[in-house]
Amino acid sequence: MASVIEVTDLRKTYRLGALNVPVLNGVSMSVERGEMVCIMGPSGSGKSTLMNIIGCLDAPTSGSYRLEGEEVSRWGDARLAAARNSKIGFVFQTYNLLARLSALANVELALQYGDRRNARARSLQALESVGLGHRYKHRPLELSGGEQQRVAIARALVKNPAIMLADEPTGALDSRSSAEIMAILQRLNRDEGLTVALVTHEADIARHTRRIVSLRDGLVVSDEPVAEPLQAQAAEGVSA
Ligand code: ADP
Ligand code: MG
Repeated sequence: MASVIEVTDLRKTYRLGALNVPVLNGVSMSVERGEMVCIMGPSGSGKSTLMNIIGCLDAPTSGSYRLEGEEVSRWGDARLAAARNSKIGFVFQTYNLLARLSALANVELALQYGDRRNARARSLQALESVGLGHRYKHRPLELSGGEQQRVAIARALVKNPAIMLADEPTGALDSRSSAEIMAILQRLNRDEGLTVALVTHEADIARHTRRIVSLRDGLVVSDEPVAEPLQAQAAEGVSA
């Protein structure tokens, strides 16, 4: 079976006025079904640029990107949007929830352009799976940062994506909330077989995954399994 993700010689150059800013300089890597992998690197190394391309939020300048075997890099906006809706769950550092909507409505919104059957029940179930079933009526500002990120994970999960992508998902959180988020991602990967790729610049977060791909200046400089992944401590009332 095809890799979930396979990028080959991926390049991205931003244009700033007359200036060309090369950010990805020929990245090749793949992610297999059921993996939990981390992309690590210092600030500015191109992690978010790579993640946004993998997440169909941006297009590469050149190179190949195959998502479940299909060549994505030449797709137009409509097909990219369709892939975002059906194949990809994306979690951002700053949660990106809508402040005026309840947790449940935020999750349900992810199903707006997809399969809407039983949307409410599935959204509630996704919230329950991140331990927030009892908080479904709360708006984002009535929730802690860690809880908001759990809503964002539920919003990604409810689409039943082929892969969950998370760009610095613990970057805005204290260490306890970070551990709760990592525990949820680890459980989804281990028990549900969810493929997870996350970005971090923190080594202790990276060691909770099973493979670390290191990026420097837009190039993969190492790609190594984690010998003994750390197990994160789940929040009270959330199974891990
Ligand atoms: P990281 O996530 O590893 O910190 P990014 O992928 O966000 O790195 O950015 C890598 C480089 O690309 C940075 O130097 C950044 O300034 C530049 N960059 C990112 N987005 C843009 C953009 N839209 N236009 C111009 N330069 C950008
Ligand atoms: Mg970034």
